[in-house]
Amino acid sequence: MRFLLALCSVTLLAPPITLWIWLSQQRILRNGRPLSEQETFLAKAVGVKNAAAIRVLALETVPMPGPRWTHRLAQGLGFPALTAAGMSSGKRIYLQRKFQDRRLLLAYECVHAAQYERHGIFGFLRRYLFQSVHDAYVNATFEREAIERPSTCVGASGLTKPPHQQPRSAR
Ligand SMILES: [Zn+2]
Repeated sequence: MRFLLALCSVTLLAPPITLWIWLSQQRILRNGRPLSEQETFLAKAVGVKNAAAIRVLALETVPMPGPRWTHRLAQGLGFPALTAAGMSSGKRIYLQRKFQDRRLLLAYECVHAAQYERHGIFGFLRRYLFQSVHDAYVNATFEREAIERPSTCVGASGLTKPPHQQPRSAR
């Protein structure tokens, strides 16, 4: 049953979110900045191969992926409903302005960027959505990797929850 639900979620959500990611990439490419030398080091440390291609765009609010109906469906499937502190669209990364200097947050988004790099946009999304619905969002393999890997590279205490789920005071 869980398997079927996960399969349906991928079928419904992956196409509109892929389009959203493509549009986001164009926006971040136009308005974003490349990584600093130190940030490039960090991105490579968490597994990004082409760190020079990463662009970061800091905004007041990070937009949620896909059209509105996908947000409601995603929340119903167990995705966090909170405003995200960051969001990777492949190698283009949105960061919420007030958190843009958080190295752990950038490292976390870079792990997702490395996952996109390994699997391509659709390949990443297909796996990510399937894992998140089938195994629950917090147990998804890609989420676990994004949370755990930075702590081994950044040298700070790891994130206990994905950044989009951090309590407001801890963001
Ligand atoms: Zn994540």
